[in-house]
Amino acid sequence: MAQQEDIFKKVVSHCKEYGFVFPSSEIYDGLGAVYDYGQNGVELKNNIKQYWWQYMVLLHENIVGLDSAIFMHPTIWKASGHVDAFNDPLIDNRDSKKRYRADVLIEEQIAKYEDKIEKEVAKARKRFGDSFDEAQYRATSARVLEEQAKRDALEKRYQEVMNAEGGIDLEGMKQIILDEEIVCPISGTRNWTDVRQFNLMFKTEMGAAAEGASTIYLRPETAQGIFVNYLNVQKTGRMKIPFGIAQIGKAFRNEIVARQFIFRMREFEQMEMQFFVKPGTELEWFKTWKERRMAWHQALGFGAENYRFHDHDKLAHYANAATDVEFRMPFGFKEVEGIHSRTNFDLSQHAKYSSKKIEYFDPEENTSYTPYVIETSIGVDRMFLSVICHSYDEEKLEDGQTRTVLHLPAALAPVKLAVFPLTKKDGLPEKAREIIDDLKFHFNCKYEEKDQIGKRYRRQDAIGTPFCVTVDAQTLEDNTVTLRYRDTMEQKRVAIADLRGIIEDQVSIPSLLKNLK
Ligand code: ATP
Repeated sequence: MAQQEDIFKKVVSHCKEYGFVFPSSEIYDGLGAVYDYGQNGVELKNNIKQYWWQYMVLLHENIVGLDSAIFMHPTIWKASGHVDAFNDPLIDNRDSKKRYRADVLIEEQIAKYEDKIEKEVAKARKRFGDSFDEAQYRATSARVLEEQAKRDALEKRYQEVMNAEGGIDLEGMKQIILDEEIVCPISGTRNWTDVRQFNLMFKTEMGAAAEGASTIYLRPETAQGIFVNYLNVQKTGRMKIPFGIAQIGKAFRNEIVARQFIFRMREFEQMEMQFFVKPGTELEWFKTWKERRMAWHQALGFGAENYRFHDHDKLAHYANAATDVEFRMPFGFKEVEGIHSRTNFDLSQHAKYSSKKIEYFDPEENTSYTPYVIETSIGVDRMFLSVICHSYDEEKLEDGQTRTVLHLPAALAPVKLAVFPLTKKDGLPEKAREIIDDLKFHFNCKYEEKDQIGKRYRRQDAIGTPFCVTVDAQTLEDNTVTLRYRDTMEQKRVAIADLRGIIEDQVSIPSLLKNLK
């Protein structure tokens, strides 16, 4: 684990050093949990968005796009439940003045019991070797049973306070924190305030105050923009159920504890698709979308063992099925995407609050109904983090040196081809530029002439460029160049005329999409 945390720190500094991610407003000492994407980061991010957009909108005849405004009528957030219920329970430690999410403190305590159990099992496995019967050990070891009982009792209490009548039982939550003797990791004390509810939406005002300005919320999710446009899109696009609407856009949440780099930000980007279906078919569609989304993730080639579903036992009142796609980050398996069967909750709520009829007329059955919705919702930034963490590698080379390389899927890499003249003279730079001028219409190329070739290779490895080409004296004679592959470092002589054919197909987004067939 220590090693994994180390890797995470290295990834964060690599992102800054190579122009992927900078802290926002850095010259003013930054702004909590807000980040900017640099020259390479924006390319990688755009490629991730393209991969998602093309999968949704190009590959599905019945999915169309949308780009709705961030500002929306404030009643939307009343109807969606966000004004009343988009809260986190927070608690402060009076000594360190640090603020925590009370639910997270309790969940971490549950995880501590689980950790203890796993450690006991691991110790026993070592002691007993091949003859170890894990199931029996878990069922009979006094220590394991004791920890398991504590864990289960805590889980039960936690579920009770979270699902109390009339909302979360805040006093009950504090009592758990006191009873479990949970301490602040900074001050080490148990000097806690009461637990309070904190709404995560940012507010601003529209119009001048004198004219009676109204409170506007920065959207905490893009989904509501889709719901309120359901009728517009369905009618103007003559969409037949089942159909989907996809949108990519910024979302804002005033997260209490924003940690782990771009994993939890206050301004982030979502890629959401709402799929409208006939009531009664939603659980079948939920299953289909679970499979489709997992296939999309796995087509990146990061290995199936790095993904898992986390099905929710506890469902939001409007959902009848929910799961998270989790990816193995350096700090454990974490949610990257949520898939939810949201029933007809959202459309019904908007119908109620707007007094408009929001339904679908089914021409085959000659009836009208409020469609049910399957939602797939993924964070661009979390996806970015998973891609970069998985790709980051410090490779020991045969000559004893180490190279830092990003093994990015070629289609996501910021730069696809770097072209180097061996020297800065004898017409080599001109020839190198000629190659770029021809290829730049097809994929992202970069020209580099500074430093010796080895150093230039390393710089491209560090940003994940899949192909490098070196132009030398022989190039001027026979129009061939040395093509070098990032992952294998293999080099071969190829004709300039063949470059496009070799590279283009491998670096295009469709090359990834084809893995999905
Ligand atoms: P979490 O439990 O981690 O707070 P969530 O369950 O509230 O996430 P959703 O509301 O389902 O998240 O949002 C869908 C997706 O949006 C998440 O899977 C995640 O990828 C992304 N996301 C949500 N909140 C943030 C955030 N603060 N920063 C970055 N991405 C986020």
